[in-house]
Formats: sequence, structure tokens, C-alpha cells
Amino acid sequence: MQNNRIKKVVIAGGGTAGWLTAAALSRQLGGLIDIELVESDAIGTVGVGESTIPTICSFHALLGIDEAEFMRETQATFKLGIEFENWGRDGDRYVHGFGQLGKGNWMGEFHQFWLHAQSLGFGGDIGDYCLETQALNARKFATSEKPSLNYAYHLDATRYARYLRRRCEARDGARGVVRTEGKIRQVVTNRENGWIDSLVLENGAVVRGDLFIDCTGFRALLMGETLGCGFEDWNRWLPTDSAFAVQSELVGEARPNTRAIARSAGWRWQIPLQSRMGNGMVFCSDYQSDDAARAQFLAEIDGAPLFDPRLIRYRAGRRHKAWDKNCIALGLSSGFVEPLESTSIHLIMIGITRLMQLFPFDGITPGLRSRFNTLSRDELEKVRDFVVLHYKATQREDSEFWRYCKHMPVPDSLAERMDLFRESAQVHRTADELFRSDSWVQVMLGQHLQPQSYHPMGRLMSEAQLRQALQHLQGNINAAVARLPGHQQFIDHYCRAASPE
Ligand code: FAD
Repeated sequence: MQNNRIKKVVIAGGGTAGWLTAAALSRQLGGLIDIELVESDAIGTVGVGESTIPTICSFHALLGIDEAEFMRETQATFKLGIEFENWGRDGDRYVHGFGQLGKGNWMGEFHQFWLHAQSLGFGGDIGDYCLETQALNARKFATSEKPSLNYAYHLDATRYARYLRRRCEARDGARGVVRTEGKIRQVVTNRENGWIDSLVLENGAVVRGDLFIDCTGFRALLMGETLGCGFEDWNRWLPTDSAFAVQSELVGEARPNTRAIARSAGWRWQIPLQSRMGNGMVFCSDYQSDDAARAQFLAEIDGAPLFDPRLIRYRAGRRHKAWDKNCIALGLSSGFVEPLESTSIHLIMIGITRLMQLFPFDGITPGLRSRFNTLSRDELEKVRDFVVLHYKATQREDSEFWRYCKHMPVPDSLAERMDLFRESAQVHRTADELFRSDSWVQVMLGQHLQPQSYHPMGRLMSEAQLRQALQHLQGNINAAVARLPGHQQFIDHYCRAASPE
């Protein structure tokens, strides 16, 4: 073990990853360590990353964030799930809602009973039994009603980083974060052990630290360029590598969901904020040229674009290590599973939580590093499998891109899950996995991965009992949705009424 007691943490980069790390470390460990964040206004941030998943709510609670203030400051809207269009087949629509399917006292997994009802010719759509999906369809929302909704947010990425920064800088002395503006010119390492000693900025300033967090985005200046930590490429399973992004005027009311609309060589997103729409077009450069993607994208945007679309290139995959020597990569520097299920911000948050749990106050040990790396890899691979599922479980063969996706080999871990579901409607799931069984079921059924059989427990109820139970459940959900205000109406009341502006 090195004699390397951690007294000062240096965060390189001030995008969502950098400021989330600064906000959490200063709040939780601020009295025990000094924190300095270096960022460069000249370089800027990636500027996308505006759709989240429900785990953000508990992370915000950890940071002591007031929801109404956060909503105002980041122009946020609520999100109950993702609406997938054209994924299974062209013209299809299904919802991955954030709620539980068939909430109630079933003797096993709800979808087994629903499959039995289907075999008897009734039961409707599985989404009829999810409160969040039905609220999403009706564009309704509230935080205060019972039963409560499981939700996330759409947020303005630039405003979010600024908001977190203001919170960090506002803290009194000891717990605050020192922000240093400047471009990092050089990362200096120790000749003997290769550990990072300091960052040298373009103006000559030297920023020293004991532990360095690489939040420099796709550049991975510390972890990749300096420490030479390699990258495992997942392009063969996640073939998109480019995106155009642009904001546009909001037309109509903000929906409480992200839209993910499959296109000929990828998909496009719509992320509604209070005052504008976030749009993006994700595509694979092997199958579509930049010009063709840009033209297709612009032709399909609803409101007037607010500027020229920006082109972003990326590679799906992960760094071989999330923690190497005295450097930890968080955010895009550590890897990227393309944006389809909006998981990147969550992965940053879970990485920060893990860092706080394993924080090396008394020195960095091989055991701590190894544990951090194992947990990070496991987490990312499971998220990857879930995202790859959306591409693999397509029936589309109408373009070269979709033919490739349909026939591509997938990781064994995913192939096993798909086979298991196809054979028996069972969802293989391990204890601490981000996406619950209901998420897998919604996507697999939504994309026509039809099980050949289901668990016999589905047949334990008589047809009359099952029919009655499903009707009762649906009635309760419909009544709960009817009581909710409209999503836009709720936002107007909740966020704008108390706005200081
Ligand atoms: P960045 O935002 O790139 O920040 C890097 C920081 O490092 C900047 O402050 C920069 O100035 C600084 N920096 C870099 N080099 C230097 C240097 N030499 N000197 C000083 N400072 C430097 N995530 C989601 O959760 N939901 C989504 O819907 C979503 N959509 C996405 C869509 C696309 C097309 C892409 C590419 C990503 C998406 N993501 C999404 C991911 C999300 O954008 C990122 O996880 C998030 O923004 C965090 O980025 P970051 O902070 O790691 O990097």
C-alpha cells in the first residue's frame, strides 16, 4: 500500500459529471477533504444529456436539492417513461414506463398471468396495467397524488451544470469547492510509480492533488491520454456512432416522456423542456452519410430550430478500468452506452455513490480499486445488454442498418436472457440490477419477442377470476389517472407560480 492519505481531490472537467461529483463530495465529505475543480469555458461541455431515469430523484435528495427550485433553474419537465416508435416494426409504438406492471398481490410475476389471459383472448395491452404508462398516454402528472408516480426529469444540460456549480460555490468556506478556470495543458505523473501529481494549466498554474477524478468527457485526458488506459469497443453491438443535436421551439404542450423514434440508420429523440424541445438524431455513419442524416433530421423537427445542428461523434464502449493508480474516470471519460435508455447521468451518479462508499481516506489500496472496477464493469455491461436488446429484438429488415441489427451476434449474457424469455417468459435478473424485470418485459413484448410458453402459475386462477382481477386493476388505474392534472398544467402551477423571475 502506498503512503497516500487523501487530503485533496482534484476534479478535471466541469460538465454534468464534474459538477455532480463536486456537489456530492462537498456535501458528503466536504469537512474531510479539499476539492478543486478545473474546467475550461473555451472547451465547453458536450451539451447533450437531458433525459434521465428515476434514480436521479434519490440522488437529488442526497444532495439536498429542492425539487421546485431545480425544476425552475433547469427548465425541467417530468418524465414517466420512453415512447418507442418504429422499433419492433415500422409503424409500431410501445412504452417503457417507469412503473410496476400489475401492481397488487399476484402470486408471481404479473406478466405470467397476463400471458395466460392473452392465450384466452383477453387482457388488452400490458401497458394498460402500468399507472405510469397510462398517465404518460393521457399526458397527466402530479407529484402529490396517491398512488404516487415513479418519475424522472428532462432537464437543460447546460443549466444543470451551472445550477450545480452555483450550489457548490455558495457553500461556506471549508465545504465549498474551489473552481479554477483554465485549459489543462499537461498532466504530470510521478516518474517512479506513474501516479498523477498535478495538472498544469495553459497559464502556467499548477493544480496538485492526491486523488484525481477524470471528468473531461470523451477526451479522457487523464485516464486515456495520460495513463493510457485502453478502451473496449462495443460498436459491433451498438453500431451508432454519430448524433446531430439541436434545440427547437416547443410546439404545443410538453409531454411527460421522451420519444425515441427509429429511423433508417438509427433513431431520433425528442426531449421536451419547459421552454424548448431538445432534438437529436443518432445514426450509424457506415449506413448513412452526415448530409443525409442531417437532412432527414431537419425535415422531421416540429418547431423552428434555434441554431444549426451540432454533430457529435462517439464510440460505445468502456475503459478497461474505471479506477487506475490515483485516477477515477466518471462520465463520458469512463465509457458510453449510447443514449437510448438515458442511462449516462445515472451511471455518473452510481459511480459517485460507489466512490463515496469506497473512499480511500487512508490510502488507495489494490482491494478498493479492484472492487470499484468490478462493480463499475458489471453495472455497465448489464446496462449495455438492455440497450442492445432494443436493436437486436427488431423485426425490421427494411434497411441495411436494421438488417445488420437483427442478425448481429450479441453478448452471451444477452442471448441467454432473450432465449430464456422466448422459451418460458422468465426474466433472468440479478439482485442489484438497474433495470427491473418489468423493464425487460415491456421492451421484449413491445418488440414482439413472443414467449412460446409461460409459467403454469398463470393458470392457477380461473378464467372468471383472472378477468375480474384484470378489470379491477385497470379500473383503479384509470380512476387514478382521471384524478391527475395535465402534465403541462402541473408544471405551470408547480414551477412557475413560485418563480422569482
Ligand atoms: P462533458 O460534458 O464533455 O464535460 C467535459 C468537461 O471537461 C468540460 O467542462 C470541458 O470544458 C472539460 N475539459 C475537457 N478537456 C479539458 C482541458 N484540456 N482543460 C480543462 N477542461 C477540460 N446522458 C443521459 O443521461 N441522458 C441522455 O439523454 C443522454 N443523451 C446523450 C446524447 C448524446 C448524443 C451523447 C453523446 C451523450 C448523451 N448522454 C446522455 C450522455 C451525457 O451527455 C453525459 O453523460 C453527460 O453530459 C456528462 O458528460 P461529461 O461531464 O462526462 O463530459
